[in-house]
Amino acid sequence: MADNNNNGYDYNHIDGDNDGDDDEFESSKSKLSLKSNYKQKIVWRNVIALSTLHLITIYSFYTSLSNPFLQWNHLIIADIFGRLSGLGILAGAHRLWAHRSYEASLSLRIFLMLLQTMALQNDIYDWCRDHRVHHKYSDTDADPYNVRRGFFFSHMGWLLVRKHPEVIRKGKTIDLSDLWSDPVVRFQRRFYIPLVILFWGLIPTYISHLITDLPLWECFVCTVIVRYVVSLHCTWTVNSLAHMYGYQMFDQSIEPRENRLVTYLSLGEGYHNYHHVFPWDYSASELGWNRCFNLATLFIDFCAWLGLAKNLKKPDRKLIENRLKRTGNLDQYIQQQQKTKKFFFNLFRIFTWFYYI
Ligand SMILES: [Zn+2]
Ligand SMILES: [Zn+2]
Repeated sequence: MADNNNNGYDYNHIDGDNDGDDDEFESSKSKLSLKSNYKQKIVWRNVIALSTLHLITIYSFYTSLSNPFLQWNHLIIADIFGRLSGLGILAGAHRLWAHRSYEASLSLRIFLMLLQTMALQNDIYDWCRDHRVHHKYSDTDADPYNVRRGFFFSHMGWLLVRKHPEVIRKGKTIDLSDLWSDPVVRFQRRFYIPLVILFWGLIPTYISHLITDLPLWECFVCTVIVRYVVSLHCTWTVNSLAHMYGYQMFDQSIEPRENRLVTYLSLGEGYHNYHHVFPWDYSASELGWNRCFNLATLFIDFCAWLGLAKNLKKPDRKLIENRLKRTGNLDQYIQQQQKTKKFFFNLFRIFTWFYYI
């Protein structure tokens, strides 16, 4: 584990670290007792890698704007791969593996694992460990994306510095045995790098090349690099925007919020106050996909209809109402419910569905 000098999050496997941060944990033991002395240490390899990816993306957007012969099908292909990889994160790593909010057949788990690999946000095992710590120690030093360290930190800054020792210490206490007992998770972890090369890079590039007939390098930049950077920002808004701006309808004592912009950017993860209250709800929202925008819920419902998913967990109405009365904001909740019945709100929702599908 020679790479544990950096933060170990490394979506891009820039440091190649994917093995549980034991050495980093050991090396930071002494700091745990000196919590107040914690100093942020920049991980330059991640800074350089993410900066390069962003510069390529910005330059691509700039040249696209000045190119009147831009092939729109190129962008559509990149968009489709972005959404597929998003489903791998939302329906796979998040709702299936991290929260166990439903059960999936072997074929569905393999499919979601491949989509999750396409997203390149660490393997399922690491992703779920970070996410479970995020839920258990939300908005504290032990939260990997602690929003109290500012918007930039919670959005992407956490990837650019070493983990806070509390994240490592508390991460060690999280039970991940259910993940390890899944052969699909173990297989992905064992062959993560070749899988990433294939499903994050080569396959999207080649499919784009076959359809558009553009040079391979151009397909790689658009369908892999640009798609990756845009998808990352869409995912990151859940940790930043949805922990800073919006309504705290179900529990006013916690930072996570209901944020509509995040809902559309993240394909259905913006009902974040609700999600932190009922993390085991397979829909990560109070209402289903037919009452609010939630692409991942539609996908899971479709899989259940096909017989590939079962035991979809959902709190009953009474439980939600009791929680609302106890910790939520009932007036705000009623106001928001009224909004969802308005004509223009529904028109916008239908338009959004139409666009996304
Ligand atoms: Zn959160
Ligand atoms: Zn969650």
